Parts: sequence; C-alpha cells; structure tokens
Amino acid sequence: SAPASERPTRILVDLDAIAHNLRAIRAHVRVPVMAIVKANAYGHGLVPVARHLQAQGVEQLGVAFLEEGIALRQAGITVPILVLGGIFGPQVAQFIAHDLEVTVSSLDKLHQVEAAAQALGRKATVHLKIDTGMERIGVHSYSCGPFIAAAVASRWCTIKGIYSHLACADDPGSEMTALQVQRFAEACAHFERLGAPMPLRHLANSGGVLHFPQTHLDMVRPGIVLYGVQPDPASKRTLDLRPALSLVSQVVYFKVVKAGHPVSYGATWAPAHDTRVVTVPLGYGDGYPRALSARGEVLIRGHRHPIVGRICMDQFMVDIGQDSAWNEDEVVLIGRQGDAAIPVEAVAQAAGTIPYEILTGLNARIPRLYR
Ligand code: PLP
Repeated sequence: SAPASERPTRILVDLDAIAHNLRAIRAHVRVPVMAIVKANAYGHGLVPVARHLQAQGVEQLGVAFLEEGIALRQAGITVPILVLGGIFGPQVAQFIAHDLEVTVSSLDKLHQVEAAAQALGRKATVHLKIDTGMERIGVHSYSCGPFIAAAVASRWCTIKGIYSHLACADDPGSEMTALQVQRFAEACAHFERLGAPMPLRHLANSGGVLHFPQTHLDMVRPGIVLYGVQPDPASKRTLDLRPALSLVSQVVYFKVVKAGHPVSYGATWAPAHDTRVVTVPLGYGDGYPRALSARGEVLIRGHRHPIVGRICMDQFMVDIGQDSAWNEDEVVLIGRQGDAAIPVEAVAQAAGTIPYEILTGLNARIPRLYR
C-alpha cells in the first residue's frame, strides 16, 4: 500500500505473520478463537488487522471499548465482536444498534442492558463476566448465583458467553490458574442447576493458550501471541510464533562529537573519545519510550549501537563509534536487519516494562505499512 506519509519512520506490519500465528494457535487449541484487537490491535492497526483476521476465518473479535467496536463495524467488519470492557451508562443502546456483544459484569449492568434492549425492541447479545481472581470487573464466582439466574430469566438478553480473565497465566508455574479454573467451573455449574443451556465458556488469554490446556474450554482469547510475542519473555517458546511488527527509521544526520562534549538534554552523557553520532527522527512523542535513554539499542548496517543521551520528543542520538553511516541508512528499532535482531521483548526489558506497553504505546503519528 502507498505510504501514509513521506516520513522515514514507519511501522511495518507483516500480516502473513499474524495469519501464521493464528494457524499455530488453532492447531494447538482446537477450539474457536476470539482474536483480541483492542488498543489498535496492540499497535498493529485495528482495521487492517481485523480485516485480515476476518479473511482468515477467525470466529470472533474482542475489543476493549465501544468506540473500537464501532470503528470495526464502520469499516465493514462483519464477524461477531465482543466488547470486553465495562459499559458506561449512556452508551448501552449503541452496543445493540451496532450489533456489538456486551460484557455484563453486574446485576445493575444487566438491568441497564435490558432496559436499552427493550427500548430499542431488539435483544442484546451478552457475555457474563465472572471474577475468579482478578478483582477487576465481574461478579465474584462465589456469589454469582442470583446474577446468572437473573440473566437466564431475562427476556431482553441472549446469553452467548460466560467468561473470566486469568491473572497469572503467563507464569506456567503459578497455582493461581488452577484456582481460577475451579472457580470458573463452579460459576458455570449454575447453568446446569437452572436447567439452562450452557453458553460459550472462555477463559484463556495468551498465557492460558500456551501453558494451561484446561483453560481452553469452548473458545480462547489470545492477544499478544497473535502478534508473535510471548506474554512471558522468560518462559520457553512452545508455539512457533512470528513477530509481526517492525519499527524502522533512517539516519538523518551524521556528526563527529568531540571527547567531553555532551549529547542531548540535560547533558547527561559525553563521549570519552571523539566519536561518530547519528540522529534518528523519532522520539517519545511517537511512543518510543524515553526510558530507553542511554539503555536502548538500534541496528544500523547490521550492527548494534547504543542510544546515547536523553531521547527527545521527536529525535534521538546513537553512538556508532568508528563505524560509518550515511544519511538515509535504515535504522531498525524493533525487528531484524541482516542477521541481527532487536525483539520487542528486549526493548521492553531495556525500558523496564512489558512488550504489551511498548507495542500499544506506538502511536498514530507513525505511519503503518502492511505487507
Ligand atoms: N481477554 C481479556 C479480557 C483481556 O483483557 C485481554 C488483554 O488484556 C486478553 C484477553 C488478551 O490477553 P493476552 O494479550 O495476554 O493474550
């Protein structure tokens, strides 16, 4: 596709890698997949990624907020979409109007959804949210009987799913997951007790997909693994995943910095010897974390070089030592160059955060290109 701008900084998204990861997940879990595309598809671009997943036959999409669901519908996405986040009062009717599935996380919310559905004369499709250990949104598993009974009795809600979210599934050794599985099963048992049909049960995020087969149930909800990234960089890779995102830029300035002459804001770093420094035109204003100042690395001409001095809003500097570089040389911040690679996991570690935050932080100022 044509560049969205002539800016040399860009995110390259490999849609084939996402399709490959979806196939790897499918082969592993053998149940339908709700692909999680919230937060701009983890920075990869909401609509292009959703379109590609739809073309791959994904059964369902999951987003966090109503607005993300509406954006998908307006782009012509027709697969079922669940909004995972809470509902905010005035928005309820819009879920139904845009054919978006609603997360119902309390008796109050159930009543709100019923009232909106009745007013529109159109049933709402809902997934009941059970809290089995996150203490985030959802009705506690140990007291969800009346909630489930009310939902089952509702004339204006079709219960399509029941779900919960795992707090520790990225840690294969955590005992929390078994406890959550057990609590979730107890919540689901209310349907049998009520003589009501069991809706789709879904529990597994990427950690569940990778490490806990007992969480796969009727559908899985992977996010980060779809994009080829491990939820837990420390654990061993059990699926063949391909990272889908690269972040690249160019050298736009070359200079020799004399020994003792400090670089960037705060004058926090100066070379011990004369050295060659290049400037790269992106910064924390693009979502490239300022925490990478003096910690991050980039690839230029297949070699790894350190970021020096503070990262600015729109630019940062790299010490290339005695190597050579020319204006317009490619700079790789995330991804591969020749035999060298900087995985997003390494960037996250250097910045003191998780890959999720790095990916979702890359903002709309950076054009995205798809191949
Ligand atoms: N399900 C819910 C409810 C979520 O909030 C998320 C993301 O945080 C996911 C699934 C996907 O998580 P992951 O990216 O770890 O697979």
